[in-house]
Amino acid sequence: MNQDCLFCKISNGDIPSDRIYEDDRVIAFRDINPQAPFHAQVIPREHIATINDLTTDNSDLLAHMILTAKTLASDNDFSEPGYRLIMNCNEQGGQTVYHIHLHILAGRQLRGLG
Ligand code: AMP
Ligand code: ZN
Repeated sequence: MNQDCLFCKISNGDIPSDRIYEDDRVIAFRDINPQAPFHAQVIPREHIATINDLTTDNSDLLAHMILTAKTLASDNDFSEPGYRLIMNCNEQGGQTVYHIHLHILAGRQLRGLG
């Protein structure tokens, strides 16, 4: 828990969110500023600031985040139409919240990155 971290506060319930999944390692909630009809974040409960802070110790956690995203996409009927998973790192990568998170975007045609 990082006292100054928005997603830590969402994870422990200090800040409300539209939570769509949780277990002992991750939570998922709808993005407050959705960029697609379905836009959610999968985050670890553990505070990890950026992708740069990850090590092989986090391998299982990362796999669990992706598999959680896959299941949420499936539960919301986006497996066949498709969806996009994104993780941004640091300023030029477009990261604004410094607690790693996996974006799930779905429900419209997504085009090039940038
Ligand atoms: P990034 O720019 O990759 O760091 O993504 C941060 C995401 O967090 C953005 O899509 C924001 O809309 C989202 N976000 C920021 N504050 C909240 C919040 N309180 N609840 C839900 N999503 C949020
Ligand atoms: Zn945090």
